[in-house]
Amino acid sequence: MLTPDSEIRDLILEYGGEEALKCYQCGMCMSLCPWYQIEDVNFLVYRLPQAVKLGAILNTEDKEEVAAEVAEMYRCVGCEACLAQCPRGVDIPAVLRAVRRILVENQSIPGPLKTTISHFHSTGNPLGGAEEKRLDWAGEPGVPAFEPAMEFAWFTCCTSDYDPRCQSINRATLKVLDRAGVSFGVLGTGQSCCGEAIRKAGAEQVFNQLAEANTKLINSKGARSLLFTSPHCFNGYRRDYPELVQGRELIHETQLFARLIDQGRLKPTKALNKKVVYHDPCTLGRQSGVYDEPRAVLQSIPGLELVEIENFNRDQSVCCGGGGGGLWLDWPKGERLSDLRVRQAAETGADILAVACPYCMAMFEDSVKTSYEIELEVKDVAELLADSLED
Ligand code: SF4
Ligand code: SF4
Repeated sequence: MLTPDSEIRDLILEYGGEEALKCYQCGMCMSLCPWYQIEDVNFLVYRLPQAVKLGAILNTEDKEEVAAEVAEMYRCVGCEACLAQCPRGVDIPAVLRAVRRILVENQSIPGPLKTTISHFHSTGNPLGGAEEKRLDWAGEPGVPAFEPAMEFAWFTCCTSDYDPRCQSINRATLKVLDRAGVSFGVLGTGQSCCGEAIRKAGAEQVFNQLAEANTKLINSKGARSLLFTSPHCFNGYRRDYPELVQGRELIHETQLFARLIDQGRLKPTKALNKKVVYHDPCTLGRQSGVYDEPRAVLQSIPGLELVEIENFNRDQSVCCGGGGGGLWLDWPKGERLSDLRVRQAAETGADILAVACPYCMAMFEDSVKTSYEIELEVKDVAELLADSLED
């Protein structure tokens, strides 16, 4: 049984959970929370602010209750669908980030997250990839290193650098940038994770170390325009690095691709006679307002028929389940947002599910592979565009 505790309440508020005080328990946040669509899950998000106000949270000695509560605190994927619905603008993920900070400090976190945090400590990235292997995905002749005279410093994502499936997104991006004659270079093996997701997971100290390293690196390179493969990095820099990004251009790669097509610097000519459904990643769509550019890129490919997931597209999109640390957790079957989302995508009759985020790619690939009924190919917008360019 959880009882009110003012010390816990005060600590949550000190860690940035004061957003909870704005809540008046109308329940509107429930309507778009993706967990509401999962039958076996009863995640009552509207109760969280009230529990924080009372400090009736995390204050039990009962081991089973603690484990159940920790699991609930890590259910939120930081998609911000609730924030978009809330009449008071309560930032639930910020409240949960404060609660999770306490959990991280007390080591009361799910096992897989402990492993991820130890990877961060040893390598600066969540996958534990060796620093010298960060650019192995490029093969020969490699990828240019950023120099100050270049237009874009390309911030690749740890997931697209080290995850074998997602590395293909980097290779496709490299091909596209080369074809368009873009002046760019990568930040190199010294790049660390942006820290967006691990911060949402409550590891504030880890985030601070990553931010310090990245700030030093980017300043030392003299990069003015930052190009991002992952919308998590794109959004993370926009929100979490306010001083560094001042006066710098930040652009997601789908935005640059659309611009290059518009300028006539890229001409997709190879036809793809397939039906494609586009999934809006939360960090690119709802959180950054980028909806049209990925669609414009797809529509520039000859033969491609673009379809939408009815009722759940653009700002009503459903999270893949990978945000807020979800990518690193083990979700039991029946409790996976990615399974729900690939089902929605398959119901459109599409052949291909297009994504614009390495996290979405990793989550959906896993769901499609472990499903008996769903036949969908998961491709990144960069891959589809690269395939449409003449060799
Ligand atoms: S919608 Fe906002 S005000 Fe209403 S219960 Fe949810 S968090 Fe509270
Ligand atoms: S951020 Fe998303 S998953 Fe988290 S409570 Fe809000 S709607 Fe639910």
